[in-house]
Amino acid sequence: MRSSILIIYTGGTIGMKTDPDTGTLVPFDFSAIYEEFPSLKRLKVDLEVQTLTPVIDSSNVQPHNWVTLAELIQKNYDRYDGFVVLHGTDTMSYTASALSFMFENLAKPVVFTGSQIPIGVLRTDGRENLITAIEIAGAHDVEGRPLVPEVSLYFQNHLFRANRTTKRSAEALSAFYSYNYPPLADVGVNIAYNRSAIHQPARYDEPLRIATRFSERVCIIKLFPGLTEQTLRGILSIQGLKAVVLETYGAGNAPTADWFIRPLEEAIARGMVVLNITQCKGGGVAMDLYETGLRLQQIGVESGYDMTIEAAVTKLMYLLGNEHEPALIKKALEEPLRGEFTR
Ligand code: ASP
Repeated sequence: MRSSILIIYTGGTIGMKTDPDTGTLVPFDFSAIYEEFPSLKRLKVDLEVQTLTPVIDSSNVQPHNWVTLAELIQKNYDRYDGFVVLHGTDTMSYTASALSFMFENLAKPVVFTGSQIPIGVLRTDGRENLITAIEIAGAHDVEGRPLVPEVSLYFQNHLFRANRTTKRSAEALSAFYSYNYPPLADVGVNIAYNRSAIHQPARYDEPLRIATRFSERVCIIKLFPGLTEQTLRGILSIQGLKAVVLETYGAGNAPTADWFIRPLEEAIARGMVVLNITQCKGGGVAMDLYETGLRLQQIGVESGYDMTIEAAVTKLMYLLGNEHEPALIKKALEEPLRGEFTR
């Protein structure tokens, strides 16, 4: 059985090649993909390409770009078996996490990838990333069911659940990693799918729905020894601010001093959501482990468990954009919605 895949190019390094005449980097024309990579014809997939305009460096991505991308996938959902999104690496984990929350009833693969070296440069990592992402997006079992029906991110031999990833290196070709959830697939000579780690939808025939509202009234406060009450109060009193991701130390620990606890307590009493995420890459928040975490729990700070900062921010933006009932927001923070954390 052949699969049909839609490749969506949004921008980023992967889409560049060297102009042989001038030696400068110029955009690569993905619509001519078979001419550039004739070997793609050997994969059992039919490819079509759409380029989002304008093509952007992912550092310029804003929530409205997530909506445009999700709408394009929704519009084409019935026509294709899977989707490959080519995206700049800088904010790829944010976009991919956001899409994971936006999609309701997703039962087809949406594989994000990109590259550290432009695709048209000889030593590129983009060619392998692209070809393997296509193969994964088209992979299905004997009954024709997709092998990875969720939002994933493929980079340098590993397929990850997208909302578990973080860009860990500006230099290494293995730029992404998932510290708290095993890879969905490891790629060597063969692609070894980790079937037990991959989400299986309850149904495969539901229409794809998308949530299109994001609240931008969210910010991040990263703790450091030397943070002052003035800075903390300044941020917490920003007009209209609804939620704060508190990047704490270790297993979710923070100063126990009144100057720190009181402003947070007052903000929570005013209705602010405060979500505790650790600054550590691996492991998660356990607020009942130390006195320094317990104080936060007692004043009503929510645990973010082992969520990435990218998942935490986009989940809050999604929840606050679509839900207004504080009790439901609290409930949705305590439950993984798309496998974004493990308790
Ligand atoms: N600045 C680029 C981007 O994120 C980097 C990349 O694609 O790797 O769009």
